[in-house]
Amino acid sequence: MKFPLFDPTVSVMTAAAESESDAHWMRQALAAAHEARARDEVPVGTCIVVGETVLAVAGNRTRTDGDPTAHAEIVALRQAARNAGNYRLAEAVVYSTIEPCVMCAGALIQARVKRLVFGARDERAGAVESRFRVCDTDFLNHRIEVTAGVLEAECREVMQEFFRARRRKMLDAGCGA
Ligand code: ZN
Repeated sequence: MKFPLFDPTVSVMTAAAESESDAHWMRQALAAAHEARARDEVPVGTCIVVGETVLAVAGNRTRTDGDPTAHAEIVALRQAARNAGNYRLAEAVVYSTIEPCVMCAGALIQARVKRLVFGARDERAGAVESRFRVCDTDFLNHRIEVTAGVLEAECREVMQEFFRARRRKMLDAGCGA
């Protein structure tokens, strides 16, 4: 009879279950990104979850609302805090299709969220890994656990397709090269 000191199948299964549920919630965020796309917004979506409960799903609304702060993450954080009846979301996991910007990463810190999962990096303005590291800096009094690259290809594709279409439209209108 064998007495293994370490059973690797246990941790492998736990990791598999986590990545499967991450993909599941990221699909909700992606649906919100597509919904934003239909409103001619830059297609970013966010889903906020505590355990198995969805607190908020939102897409970018900056043009719709005429509000420069209405990024998907901010809209979703507001909804989630309202639904939770608490401005602190210490047990929340935030799923965002794109790496959050400085404003949104700052808001995630203010909300004290537990974990951030994002799809594709924003090399130009990302404030989690690409340009700044707001979520795990030593200078702030809260750190957020980060998982990157969940459904990365799908999250990037909806953005690239949006900007390709916008460029095409500008060329057709004869403004810009
Ligand atoms: Zn943002």
